[in-house]
Amino acid sequence: MFERIDYYAGDPILGLMEKYSADNNPNKVNLGIGIYYDESGVLPVLDCVKTAEARIADPIAPRPYLPMAGLPGHRKGCQELLFGKGAQILKDGLVATTATIGGSGALKVGAEFIHQWFPQSKCYVSDPTWGNHIAIFEGSDVEVGKYPYYDKANSSIKFDEMIAFFETLNKHDVILLHPCCHNPTGMDLTQAQWDTVLNVIKAHELIPFMDIAYQGFGEDMDSDAYAIRKAVEMGLPLFVSNSFSKNLSLYGERVGGLSVVCPTADEAERVFGQLNAMVRRIYSSPPSHGGHVVDIVMNDDALHEQWVGEVYAMRDRIKAMRLKLKSVLEAKIPNRNFDYITRQNGMFSFTGLTPEQVERLQSEFGIYMVSNSRMCVAGLNTSNIDSVANAMADVLKD
Ligand code: PMP
Repeated sequence: MFERIDYYAGDPILGLMEKYSADNNPNKVNLGIGIYYDESGVLPVLDCVKTAEARIADPIAPRPYLPMAGLPGHRKGCQELLFGKGAQILKDGLVATTATIGGSGALKVGAEFIHQWFPQSKCYVSDPTWGNHIAIFEGSDVEVGKYPYYDKANSSIKFDEMIAFFETLNKHDVILLHPCCHNPTGMDLTQAQWDTVLNVIKAHELIPFMDIAYQGFGEDMDSDAYAIRKAVEMGLPLFVSNSFSKNLSLYGERVGGLSVVCPTADEAERVFGQLNAMVRRIYSSPPSHGGHVVDIVMNDDALHEQWVGEVYAMRDRIKAMRLKLKSVLEAKIPNRNFDYITRQNGMFSFTGLTPEQVERLQSEFGIYMVSNSRMCVAGLNTSNIDSVANAMADVLKD
């Protein structure tokens, strides 16, 4: 009966995690998956989260279903983080937000919505992008194309090519954008470049879909949301998927949100209803525990402030690792330019290693990164950075 079922090749990034776990090398280093580990190589539980969890009353309290769109405080938390506390569009009721199962759930609900209500639209993703972007949209029968983004030869962005490409697209085509900390390249647009992109989107009536999974890891909470808030200021309709996996270090709790900015409150109400309908038929309602943690941390001023400080501490540790990695590599290979390492933002560095060099790092040194050369800088710490930098220098020199 099931003989005709294809084998699943597995997810390249999750598969790498499994390979890493099975490796007996005592010096192995995991720079594959996008998870923040602290200075001791441990996945942190944020202090603000510990406080919130202590406040979640009785652990044996009844656990009813949440509403389809999740807790109101979770939704409000997403909105204020993305659009700014007191934003006029929030007062005017122009944003339809549903809590979702992580950022992935937000992308899925958004993709289903696009498929149903904009069936002619194609979705364009950056070349390269996080692999699951393509899988999620194609899985919802939305045709996916790629727009030029990263110039490997110069470790820069193909900005002019990207803009020229956007100008060829059809009305209501969807452009998936990373407002900060681009995954996998770490290369972000400047504010002036965002302005140009958004002007082209407006002129050609394209639909921006901004996926923000690393807010706070780039510059700061507000600057990282520049593109989102600028699009709002320009009166553009807008989809935003956000994830709390990284910035609340709540990976397994699966918390995120999907927000759709609409021209009128009536449209926002219609869209909100349809988002509920999408959620109902995919997974019915979001998880409760993570939703309560988000609600508490986002809506308590003191905890929120503590949270922001904890995110910035993670951001700063990653930046320090970038500096250190760059300086060791520069010392070892003086004729090569490693500036790109500190120009990139967020958790990832696109190192430019060839697949063969990545493979050598894995087999000879037990250092795991994605074959496209993406390294999770948040997996580095003062104990492993020298050995990683030395190993990288070794494979680069040969
Ligand atoms: N978007 C991007 C760009 C991501 O990097 C990730 C996580 N790797 C997600 C969305 C999904 O987030 P979550 O793990 O919360 O589903």
